[in-house]
Amino acid sequence: MEFSSRARQRHLRLAGDKREPYPHSLQFYQEPPTETISLNEFESFAVDRLRLLKVVENLGVSYVKSGDAYKSKLEAELRKLKFPYRALAEDDYDARRKDHISHFILRLAYCQSEELRRWFLQQEMDLFRYRFNELTDSLRQKFLDHVNLSFEALTARSLPSVQSDERLQPLLNHLSHSYIGPDYSVQKNTGKISLEHIDALSVKSFPLCMRQLHKALRENHHLRHGGRMQYGLFLKGIGLTLEQALEFWKKEFIRGKVDADKFDKGYAYSIRHNYGKEGKRTDYTPYSCMKIIMSNPPSQGDYHGCPFRHSDPELLKQKLQSYKVPPSGVTQLLELVKGMHYQLACQKYFELTHDVDDVGFSLNHPNQYFAESQRILSGGKEVKKEPSHLGNSQQKNNSQESVNSNSASTSSSMTTDAELEGLEAYFTED
Ligand code: SF4
Repeated sequence: MEFSSRARQRHLRLAGDKREPYPHSLQFYQEPPTETISLNEFESFAVDRLRLLKVVENLGVSYVKSGDAYKSKLEAELRKLKFPYRALAEDDYDARRKDHISHFILRLAYCQSEELRRWFLQQEMDLFRYRFNELTDSLRQKFLDHVNLSFEALTARSLPSVQSDERLQPLLNHLSHSYIGPDYSVQKNTGKISLEHIDALSVKSFPLCMRQLHKALRENHHLRHGGRMQYGLFLKGIGLTLEQALEFWKKEFIRGKVDADKFDKGYAYSIRHNYGKEGKRTDYTPYSCMKIIMSNPPSQGDYHGCPFRHSDPELLKQKLQSYKVPPSGVTQLLELVKGMHYQLACQKYFELTHDVDDVGFSLNHPNQYFAESQRILSGGKEVKKEPSHLGNSQQKNNSQESVNSNSASTSSSMTTDAELEGLEAYFTED
């Protein structure tokens, strides 16, 4: 991870002593890392920090930031992910190095838009504040003496050099939209949903985004491309077979302006395509919240997107009221939306509509919402999360489901539960 040849030379000078670059457990991240790291490490560091920052975000809206519960939960997460968690630790070189490198990877990924920047800065500030407050007085003074607090302009200046690196840019682009849970492409439930139940399920167990799409489809007998993709893949993820999907969409579309012949010639192809039966035989996976929130915003006449992110707040308020969310709940949800905590708003909506105090999971995917809802509604027995080893690629090429042998060794330790969106496709490219 080298931003300049000057940096490389400095690294060579420092290479003799691994501890020299990290005299303190706390860092101010003034200098980008200068060592060359493997793609495997690059990826795993990035995913771990993303996990950490999501926890920071979650804790920040659930607990008082200076409170004991906040501190103990954050320390537990730092410990679990092997980041420095005690200011006094002496032998945590590896953790400090991971802290340093992962911060800069995410800085690169999150400097690409104002919205991403703000989110990243907020979480990093909270993390830094927590760590700083954990220091003893003398360590705090040492740290302040050590760092140069003068401000330097934004990481974005380093982007041109990394953008020309064809190995890194796909990772960075995906990282800021990345999703770190199961991909819901393996459908244990395939065939277990019957079409007659979809209306009821859309009210009980669909997240707001899918409920909105379902309602629009029923009312207009049509959805535009963005909506068909988002909703069609979600339905596939909850278990609709290809045959059911064809029947479902056809029945609805021919009630509108599309006749059966036009449906069979046009729309049916794209549904088969989504199931990997046409074209490049790419088995598309359902969209994660981050993908829905961050890409392809809806325009006039569209119903896709995330209502917490893309709806006018007044319309959102009316919608929530019509769904019988109590007034205090509506206020809480709108506050979260105002603070741009869209997924946390959705999580709160889940709690309010399922009458639970704490969901006990971090919401990242519409299909996760559905699975958790079904689990609760069936008394906790049904629909557990899918195994996460397949990662999160939005596309999975049927003909190359696993990484090739060379790249497999590069990414071997990463294939547990944290592959980045699109990474598989990236590694299997010729
Ligand atoms: Fe859908 Fe995710 Fe938005 Fe919830 S947060 S409405 S699941 S996109």
